This record gives sequence, structure tokens and C-alpha cells, in this order.
Amino acid sequence: MIRVAVVGAGVVGLSTALCIKSQHPSLSVTIIANRFLDATTSDGAGGLFRPDQRFIGGVEPSVLKDWCQTSFDHFNNLIFSNIAAEAGVSQVSGYQLFNDSRPDPSYKDIVYNFRHLTKEELTIFPDHYKYGYFCTTFYVETRKYMKYLTKLLNEKQVPFIKKKIHSFEELAENYDIVVNCIGYGAKDVCHDNLIRPIRGQMIRVRAPWIKHFYYTDDNCYMIPNTDTIVLGGTRQLDDENTTVDLNDKDGIWQRCLRLCPSLAQAEILWDWAGLRPDREPIRVETETIKYGNKQLLIVHNYGHGGNGISLSWGTAIDATRRFSSLLNGINNQDKQLTSKL
Ligand SMILES: Cc1cc2nc3c(=O)[nH]c(=O)nc-3n(C[C@H](O)[C@H](O)[C@H](O)COP(=O)(O)OP(=O)(O)OC[C@H]3O[C@@H](n4cnc5c(N)ncnc54)[C@H](O)[C@@H]3O)c2cc1C
Repeated sequence: MIRVAVVGAGVVGLSTALCIKSQHPSLSVTIIANRFLDATTSDGAGGLFRPDQRFIGGVEPSVLKDWCQTSFDHFNNLIFSNIAAEAGVSQVSGYQLFNDSRPDPSYKDIVYNFRHLTKEELTIFPDHYKYGYFCTTFYVETRKYMKYLTKLLNEKQVPFIKKKIHSFEELAENYDIVVNCIGYGAKDVCHDNLIRPIRGQMIRVRAPWIKHFYYTDDNCYMIPNTDTIVLGGTRQLDDENTTVDLNDKDGIWQRCLRLCPSLAQAEILWDWAGLRPDREPIRVETETIKYGNKQLLIVHNYGHGGNGISLSWGTAIDATRRFSSLLNGINNQDKQLTSKL
């Protein structure tokens, strides 16, 4: 029996564990993480799908397109199923507003209704942005979606172990394949200098009259989720502080209020700050590490930056493909050994 440990229980770890267990039901798959559900970065994210090649460095355009389309199709299927509410997924349309013109985003042929804003539309907004897009995409409310994934994993009897890993060597005795979905944790566990935190802070409010999302190029965004709206934001490279900063909060509030003055009537719910696990490129690949005479096979899937919710299903499917190739390799070795005996 091949023993598999998926390390990490954010949206990437849960999705990858589910894909692997669904594809290989007879394997023993265990999830190991030191934080779960609302203690993960994934829990706080706004969850809007808009992964643009320009901000996802080092990933081949064809690979990114595959991840985007696979994720989009997966979430679209959920949106038009009878479990959309439980999974916390929904379509949402909205505006992106800029002070200068820019190339169309790479996801423009994946989302629906993508178009440029007219001059007349641009005048609606207080700061009179010079350029903008409109499109229909979707959000994933990870607080609900991760509970939904956890339920599916429980149904498949996948056990969860709460434990902090310092080195994958700790797992070499009890597992044959490790699937590494530890997000920013890779900095310490893998000594990966390519991974860098991009701090983001946000305010959750209740303002049910706001139905569209808005993104501007001056650090202001609003993303409706089911019952709340996420107001952001900040992008602070190499800042590891996850406590809420009151100056940042004030900046976010003033910028959002300027764009949407009716927010003055909103009920403020909670503040949150988290670290986008940024890596160029996002790491989806296999590796073999030797510890003495033990060898551990690893499938990496981490470093999704500000797009981990959007790309979670696409990279999980890619990681599962790589996992299946490793498994074939092990099975072929076993067959060769048996035929020699
Ligand atoms: C402010 C903000 C807004 C965002 N908005 C969006 C958005 O609109 N759309 C979008 O797609 N993405 C967004 N993101 C990005 C998204 O949140 C991340 O890309 C995504 O959550 C990464 O998921 P993950 O599973 O890799 O990491 P995480 O959610 O951080 O999970 C990592 C897991 O690994 C475990 N782990 C780490 N180290 C160890 C260790 N040593 N031992 C054991 N376990 C370990 C953790 O406990 C956790 O379970 C946003 C992020 C922020 C901060």
C-alpha cells in the first residue's frame, strides 16, 4: 500500500488531496497541517477569479491557460449545481478601473461578457478613470468552500493530522509520497528563497445593496461574497506582519468610500490581514529527495500568490497528473522486481 501525505490544508492542499483521493480511491491519503479552516490564509481571501498572466511570472502561457480554464470549468459546474450555496460559489460581474490604458488581461477569453468601458461609463466613477473593463466572473467564498471540501474528504475517510512539519525528512519513515501544499510555509520547510510574502489587509462589511465587484489600479477593491463584502486593500511585498494595521484600515476605508460613498451606511464586521504566498513561478513539479538510504517522492504545489483560490482546482489537477506519473513509476519498478524474482 502506497502511503501519501498531503501537507497543507489551505484551499490548495484540500483541493489536491481531494483530486488525488478521487482518482486513486484505494490509496491511503492523509492530510497533515498545523492550521486548518479559519486559521489559514485561504480563509480570508476575497476569492475573485481574475488570474492575469502579467502578474503571474514565470508560468508558460499554455500552462496558465490550462490551470485557468480547468478552474473556471470546475467552479462554473459548481455554480450551476444544487450545492452552489453550500460551496460558497457564485457568478459576479464588475468593473476594473485604471488611470492609463493597458493590454487586455489573459483571462479575457475565459470569463464572460468581457468588454472595454465606454467614455460615458467611465464618467460614472468619482475619480474619472481613463480606462476600464467590465466582465462576468465568479467568487469563491473560501470559508464555505473549504468546509465543503473538508466534508467531501471526510466522506472519503481521509484523516487529518494537526502537526507542524520542520523538514520532509520527518515524513520519510511513514510515507512514500509527500504532496507539498504548504503555501508560504515553503520558505522554512523547503528553504525556498523564491517564495515571498505580499501582505494584504482588508475589511469585511455588510452592504447588501452592492452587487458588483470593483477593482482600481490605486489599491482599492470591493468583492461581494454571499452575505458580506470584502474591502481592500494593500500589497506590501516582504512584509510578514499579519496583525491588522489601523493606518492601513483607514486608507482602505477612505479609498473605498471615495469610490462608493454609500459604504458610509455599511455595517463593519471584521478586519483581516494575510500573506499572499508569491513565487515566480508557481511551483507545480515533482522532486525526489534522498535522506540516507531512504528516498522520498515529492509533488510540489505552492506559491500561488494572489491567485490561489482562482487557480486552486487547475493546479490540483496538474499536481494529480504528476502524482499519477510518479505512481506509475513505482508500480512499474515493482513489476520489474517481481518479474526478476
Ligand atoms: C488579502 C488577500 C486577498 C486575496 N484575494 C484573493 C482573490 O481575490 N482571489 C484569489 O484567487 N486569491 C486571493 N488571495 C490569495 C489566496 O488567499 C492564496 O493564494 C491562497 O490562499 C493560497 O492557498 P494555500 O493553500 O497555498 O495556502 P494557505 O491557505 O496558507 O494554506 C497553507 C497550509 O499549509 C500549512 N502549513 C504551512 N506550513 C506548514 C508546516 N511547516 N507544517 C505543517 N503545515 C504547514 C498551513 O497550516 C495551511 O494549512 C488573497 C490573499 C490575500 C492575503
